[in-house]
Amino acid sequence: MSQILKKPQKITCNFCGKSNKNHSAELWEIHQKVIPKGEKIGSMRIGFGPSVPAKIVEWNADPPYNIEYIPIYMHCGKCGQAMGNTEVATADVLNGLCTKCFCEETGQKYDSPFFGPSWRRMLDPPSWRSSEK
Ligand SMILES: [Zn+2]
Ligand SMILES: [Zn+2]
Repeated sequence: MSQILKKPQKITCNFCGKSNKNHSAELWEIHQKVIPKGEKIGSMRIGFGPSVPAKIVEWNADPPYNIEYIPIYMHCGKCGQAMGNTEVATADVLNGLCTKCFCEETGQKYDSPFFGPSWRRMLDPPSWRSSEK
């Protein structure tokens, strides 16, 4: 896993589709762990939502039924719920938790305006983070 980070060229994250430059080393590790090893990875769209990473499973059947896309979600380390885009993009800050659990853990209100578009900037550098690990 560490050899991926040493490569100088731009690599696209299989999970979120952003380049490795848009990841902290920690976030990159978190995303790579979500992708199942040794599987074919593609992307799929569910309804009108953004495309999500998917595991491509090939079945012994006639086309087009031989290929199935199984969406890959990142799950909260506490409640196990599938995480949303924002939670995935900030998983290093959220410590692998969903926003709800993160708020519970840090004693914040879930519906706080703090969790607006600029909340990541406000969290950076998060003062509580030094107490982690
Ligand atoms: Zn990623
Ligand atoms: Zn949770």
